[in-house]
Amino acid sequence: MKDFHKELITLTASGLCRQLHSFTAIDAAHVSENGQTYLMLASNNYLGLTHDVTVQEAAAQAVWRYGTGSGGSRLTTGNHSLYNQLEKELASFKGAEAALVFNTGYMANIGIISALTSPDDVIFSDALNHASIIDGCRLSQAQTVVYRHADSCHLAELLATIPCRGQRIIVTDGVFSMDGDIAPLPDLVRLAEQYGALVMVDDAHATGVIGPGGKGTAAHFGLVGKVHLSMGTLSKAFAAEGGFVAGKQVFIDYLINKARSFIFSTALAPSTIAAGLAALGTLRRNPELVEQLNCNAQAVRTELAAAGFDLCGSETAIIPILVGQAETALTFARLLKEEGLLLSAIRYPTVPQGASRLRLTVTAAHSDVELQRAVQTIIQVGKKIAII
Ligand SMILES: *Cc1c(COP(=O)(O)O)cnc(C)c1O
Repeated sequence: MKDFHKELITLTASGLCRQLHSFTAIDAAHVSENGQTYLMLASNNYLGLTHDVTVQEAAAQAVWRYGTGSGGSRLTTGNHSLYNQLEKELASFKGAEAALVFNTGYMANIGIISALTSPDDVIFSDALNHASIIDGCRLSQAQTVVYRHADSCHLAELLATIPCRGQRIIVTDGVFSMDGDIAPLPDLVRLAEQYGALVMVDDAHATGVIGPGGKGTAAHFGLVGKVHLSMGTLSKAFAAEGGFVAGKQVFIDYLINKARSFIFSTALAPSTIAAGLAALGTLRRNPELVEQLNCNAQAVRTELAAAGFDLCGSETAIIPILVGQAETALTFARLLKEEGLLLSAIRYPTVPQGASRLRLTVTAAHSDVELQRAVQTIIQVGKKIAII
């Protein structure tokens, strides 16, 4: 047998061994662990809707009304009526003809990319795309070409030189999950038009976060209708679970028939769909939540940058604090935890070797006072361990 134990020891020695920790949510911005309370600065619960009473009530009602599980895949018996409602709402939110819900964002990406591409096609993928896009490319029979992060000149060069007998598809995160910067979508759309390529945007961290009313990256740039496949997730700002894609009806019909991660998995529980639906409703009625989120994020970015931290060009609620070595990132996170702040240390292979960082996420549920105190603590500890 392969020596799995030895590999774990090697990981531990280089500060790369991962362990599970369990937390209990107290509210949208606080958790407890072993009797201690922490300010949560590492969650993707951007709008704090996990603890919105309307959303909680919708999920609870759905459990009592429809039961706890769906009992089948969507193409057999699991396609309960809430799906139809949610998909209509998502399509309208995204300004698309139709939408399709998958069980997770991960499953959406692997299903969409592998189903839509065949051996003659070429996928052009940003170097910092999410792992689920990378895995979608690996499952695909098409050739994958990686362009330098957010570098549309490099993409243009590759489009001009890589031969393609089939369909070209450009795929990118809208907001990058570990750097918090925004894809250069206007350039990507222009190049796509020039080469007849499809554009797919993963808006996991953009939905509910950027663009008017939190409508995502295409809306942020005024490019709704120019993105062929707009993917997102219900697990972040929408406080539930599930992935989705919005686009033309023909893509949706095709994916229902071809996306294996859609076909061969049991449908989500009615309560999960009800929660996602209620969260979307809450966002549409309260677009000021998005403003609150962005105000909070901007204040934190400004103060941390002024203190001398390298924030990797973040423009959003994802604020990386570049540290370098994995061990230093772990120490930084541990010292902040002793001060009651919960941030995650992000290490290889999630980010490149030597680019370890703390990943701070701001939400609309944080108060000004809490964020100000957190920033002061991060600056103090950062100085103590000589990051700044
Ligand atoms: C979180 C995330 C996903 C996966 O979504 P899940 O619903 O958590 O499976 C996909 N893409 C990006 C960019 C993400 O950040």
